[in-house]
Amino acid sequence: MSDKSIEQTFENLKKTVPLLIKHHLSAIPTHYALWYTYVANEQPSLNKAIEQALADGGSVSAAKSEALFREFVADEQDMTAWQLRQSMEAMLQELDHSMQDTRSDTQVFKQVMDSTLDDLSKVEKEGWSMQEVMALVRKLVKETQAIRKSTITFNGALQSANQEIQQLRAKLAESEQAALYDALTGLCNRRYFDSEIDSKQGVTPLSIILLDLDHFKQINDNHGHLMGDLVLKAVAKKLQDVCRDTAQVFRYGGEEFAVLMPGSALPTARQLAETMRRSVEKLVVKDRRSGNVLDGITASVGVAERRSKESVEQCIDRADGYLYDAKRLGRNRVMPMSS
Ligand code: GH3
Ligand code: MG
Ligand code: MG
Repeated sequence: MSDKSIEQTFENLKKTVPLLIKHHLSAIPTHYALWYTYVANEQPSLNKAIEQALADGGSVSAAKSEALFREFVADEQDMTAWQLRQSMEAMLQELDHSMQDTRSDTQVFKQVMDSTLDDLSKVEKEGWSMQEVMALVRKLVKETQAIRKSTITFNGALQSANQEIQQLRAKLAESEQAALYDALTGLCNRRYFDSEIDSKQGVTPLSIILLDLDHFKQINDNHGHLMGDLVLKAVAKKLQDVCRDTAQVFRYGGEEFAVLMPGSALPTARQLAETMRRSVEKLVVKDRRSGNVLDGITASVGVAERRSKESVEQCIDRADGYLYDAKRLGRNRVMPMSS
């Protein structure tokens, strides 16, 4: 593989990774292949389809990516080209092969050296002229320089390409992580929640809990934002602790948490909501640096089970309505009052 095509592959790859990040696509081979083909502009019909999808919706989902991959990339005749690009792993493998090419250059160089040394041994035996010896030495020097130079540039290019790929990889992993988890509490975030509810539309029973801390603004105002952050962390941890089975806690907004409960009907969900409310009430949060201690934290909670023919979004809206009722009726309570 020539320096130039490595450079081109790498350039394309550098453009591919940000696109995966932008469209929240995981780093799987099919996504790489699809977006690499797009970036390399190898299939105008694919580029057209992607641009159409972008114009329609602004983003290309994982499902759409898979479909485009199957339509435009998977059945491509040129399987060798496809195999070369099917993943970043393939690319790294290529780099490794190129590295071996360099090593075989070194092999050639060694042969040149050996034969030249052989020639040199003839000098004495066959009584070479000074000119002949000098020509031999010059040849040797020239070969050495040429091979050393190409090896150094090549290895240098490979090394920096490799480094950049590692960095891009780390960045990708980081952004995937950041895209799904909340930095303060470590809980799954709102975006994660939104992608989860998509896959829960058909699940029955399914319940949702929305929990909002009461008068949280006052906690910030009276005890400082740092204490506010500590409270959020402590609540998140507590909610996570009391969750069992398939219940999953998310940081839904600033001081609002959501719990998705696939497989649970309203009575079970109400029970968990009540457990959560009580454990928040019992929390004692201590700021180790200032020594300040805070308790009396409360939360209002709304619970709903998805009705048949209701979408998950409609169920969330109802839970939100119950949460509002809980606030209106004096806070620190779970609504509805009975299942
Ligand atoms: P209510 O009982 O009606 O819910 O009142 P509230 O004060 O809890 O609600 P409000 O929506 O008025 O205020 C929420 C506050 O939460 C405002 C915002 O500054 C704070 N907040 C949101 N995110 C964070 C965060 O990450 N850290 C801290 N410390 N505060 C946050
Ligand atoms: Mg609040
Ligand atoms: Mg709120």
